[in-house]
Amino acid sequence: MTAPSIQVVPNADGRTVRFKCPHCRRNHTHGIEGVSDGTRTHRVAHCWRAGSPFMAAGYHLQLAPRGRAVTARAVMP
Ligand SMILES: [Zn+2]
Repeated sequence: MTAPSIQVVPNADGRTVRFKCPHCRRNHTHGIEGVSDGTRTHRVAHCWRAGSPFMAAGYHLQLAPRGRAVTARAVMP
């Protein structure tokens, strides 16, 4: 299974990023390391919903374009 790409936004703390998960509808928060410079980086999923496809392959996090509204939709490769 290929890990999907997810657009994230930085949190106010400057150290973490978040996105609203389309599977469990909760916000998942990850460290900003490796994401802050625009790099697409893989993470183990924080999604615990049974049957979530994120659990098998995790996801790649990437900063959302500046000024663009972020949706809960995952951007599939
Ligand atoms: Zn989730």
